[in-house]
Amino acid sequence: MKISEILKANTPTLSFEVFPPKTGTAFTDVKSTTEAIAALRPDFMSVTFGAGGTTGDYTLDISENIQNRFGVPSLAHLTCVCSTAEMIKERLASFKAAGIENIMALRGDIPKDVTLPREKWAYSHADELMRAIREYGDFCIGGACYPEIHPESKSRREDIAHLKNKVEAGCDFLTTQMFFDNNILFNFLYHLREAGVGVPVIAGIMPVTNAAQIRRILQISGTQLPQRFKAILDKFGESPAAMTQAGIAYATDQIIDLYANGINHVHVYTMNKPDVARKIFENLTDIIGRKPL
Ligand code: FAD
Repeated sequence: MKISEILKANTPTLSFEVFPPKTGTAFTDVKSTTEAIAALRPDFMSVTFGAGGTTGDYTLDISENIQNRFGVPSLAHLTCVCSTAEMIKERLASFKAAGIENIMALRGDIPKDVTLPREKWAYSHADELMRAIREYGDFCIGGACYPEIHPESKSRREDIAHLKNKVEAGCDFLTTQMFFDNNILFNFLYHLREAGVGVPVIAGIMPVTNAAQIRRILQISGTQLPQRFKAILDKFGESPAAMTQAGIAYATDQIIDLYANGINHVHVYTMNKPDVARKIFENLTDIIGRKPL
């Protein structure tokens, strides 16, 4: 099923993100983890893609498995850094053959060690990849957006102008980078709508269960932490069990506030943790009118 159809519902949706293994030896473990998350029956699941394509086959295998075994629509991510047009076409052909209808089209972070010289890359930005996907076939296309602006952008105006290009290139919906203060999302949406970008926006929420990991991610992404969340990290960051409980509670609180304020679509960065996904789902059952299976 196309995600654009799912997003037409005027009721809350809840979806989860998983990532593929980096090596074949980890495949079985990651597959069963993603199956445990799919078994909860979220509205859809996204499967990330290692920029450069080295784990692309696993993205496909996991996306296909989620869809075929659990009937959960999958959103396969695809990056265009280090890729020729031919390489992208091959990926699209394999997605199509596997029955994948939804692609999250991304540029990807530029790796330090490129696997293909820059002059051979077919696409410099996600909008160019989206145009290629549109030309290739009838996929529903998602794109990334950044409520606190992308770290490479000079200004919000420039960042939003590029998002507008993505939509003109065929992007059906946007999913946000994680954020920890809902006011940042509300403000971003105001500017996005003012600029004439009307596609559905899915709010990306990260339940933080590991303090060291989130500190690393924050350094790269430029995401701000509100004082209330800093206090949680300082107080509970050294105790994994307490941090997990506090992280789930904080994420749940953020999601309820989003739903209450008319943001119907929430995507949870589960970091391949079925227990975390289940607890968040269970915290929301009466709000979204559905129980995890
Ligand atoms: P772009 O849209 O190309 O934007 C990158 C930068 O270039 C921005 O500053 C933008 O304003 C600017 N820009 C955009 N278009 C143009 C243009 N035409 N001309 C000039 N400048 C332009 N990474 C992975 O490797 N794998 C994943 O699976 C993955 N999933 C993600 C999912 C989500 C929801 C998000 C938010 C990010 C994800 N990322 C993933 C990270 C993403 O690849 C990086 O943030 C990357 O740096 C930018 O990708 P993009 O698609 O937003 O790029």
